Amino acid sequence: MFAVGMLREKTGVHAFEIPKPEIKQPDEMLIRVKEVGVDGTDTNMLKHNLQDIAEDHNEIVMGHEMVGVVEAVGSGVKSLTSGDTVVMTVRRGCGICQPCLHDQSDMCMTGLYTERGIHKRDGFLTEFVVDQEQYVVKVPSGLERLAVFTEPLSIAEKAIEQIRVIQSRLPWGCTHPEHAFLAPQWGRCKTALVIGAGPLGLGATALLRLSEVHTYVSDILPEDSPKVHLVKHMEANYIDAREKTPEEMVRLCCNPTGNLDIIIEAAGAAATAIQLINYMSRSSIYVMTGIPREEIPMQVDAAQLVRQIVRYNQVVVGSVNSNRSHFELALRDMPKIDSRFGGMLQETMTHRFRVSDYQQAFALSDPKHIKTVIEIEPWD
Ligand SMILES: [Zn+2]
Ligand SMILES: [Zn+2]
Repeated sequence: MFAVGMLREKTGVHAFEIPKPEIKQPDEMLIRVKEVGVDGTDTNMLKHNLQDIAEDHNEIVMGHEMVGVVEAVGSGVKSLTSGDTVVMTVRRGCGICQPCLHDQSDMCMTGLYTERGIHKRDGFLTEFVVDQEQYVVKVPSGLERLAVFTEPLSIAEKAIEQIRVIQSRLPWGCTHPEHAFLAPQWGRCKTALVIGAGPLGLGATALLRLSEVHTYVSDILPEDSPKVHLVKHMEANYIDAREKTPEEMVRLCCNPTGNLDIIIEAAGAAATAIQLINYMSRSSIYVMTGIPREEIPMQVDAAQLVRQIVRYNQVVVGSVNSNRSHFELALRDMPKIDSRFGGMLQETMTHRFRVSDYQQAFALSDPKHIKTVIEIEPWD
C-alpha cells in the first residue's frame, strides 16, 4: 500500500510503498485512514529536514492528526468494533516510567517514548494502520467530518487543564464559589492573552471562550485575515502584535483590577515569549506550547526576571503532546464549539487535498491558509 513521508538520505516529502499492517495481538485493530491533518510540526520536519527515523527503517510515514474507520478488531478488543469512526493518539509510552504505565505518556519521565509520524514511528499518511485499543478513541456519531481536528484541539485541552489544575492553588481568586479554577464556570471574571492565531491558538481561544474567559489573541496579521475573522467570531479581541510592544499588549489585556490571569504562547515566537514574562501579573500563569526551531539569542535582565517571578508567585509552565483523556475532552467540546461558534472548526480547515496531490499539500503558501487536510479516502 502507498505511504507518504520522509526517506533517509533524501530531503523533502515522498510517496513510497510499505506492507499492509496486520493484527498480531488480541488488543490490536486494523484501521482504514480517512483524513490526515497537516500542522507546523510536519512542515518544520520538511523545512529543517528533521529526519527522526527508527534505526531499523529507511523511511518514516508522516502524519499524526487523523480520523479513520475500524476495519477489523483483534479477539481481545472490547470498546470498538468494525465500522466505528475513530481517532488515534500520537505518543507511545516508554513502558518504564509511571506516567507511561498509567496512560499519561504525554508526561513521560524518561524521554524514551516514540510518536507516530514524528519520532521514530510511522504515522498515518497511508491507507491502513494497526494499533492497540488503548490508543484508539471512538468518535461520537455526527462528528466524523470534524474529527480530524481532535488532535490539535487535544493539545489545547491539555494546556487549559494545566492552567486549571495549577491555578486551583488560588481558590480565593474570586469570591464567587462557582468561579474557582476547577469549577465548571471557572472562566467568568478571568482574562487571557493567547499568542498566535494558528490552529492551536484558535483551539485554545475556542475553549477559553466556551468557559467565558475574556480573551485576547495576538498575531502579526492584518485585520482582514481569515484567522482574525475567526478570533472575532468567537467574541475574542484581536491585537496586531506588529503595532504593539509586549508591554502594551499586556496592558491592553488587563482586567479592571489590572491583572492578566493567563497567557498562552502558541506561536513559538521565542523572543516575544521571554519578553512577555516581564509583564506577567501577580499569581498569574503562563503556558508555553509553541516550539521554536531557530536559534534566537537575546539579552535579558536575569535578576529582574527571577526577582519578579519569586515576588509575584508566578508560574511559567510548558505543555506538550496530549493523552487519551485530552482526546476525549476534545471530542466532548467539539459539538459545543460547533454550535456556539457555528462553522468555526470547518472554517479552520481551509485547504483540502487528495493524497495524490501530497506535494502541493506540503508546498502550500497562501495567506488565507489555516489548516490543511489530506483526504486518503473521501467520506461517501
Ligand atoms: Zn515514559
Ligand atoms: Zn468571579
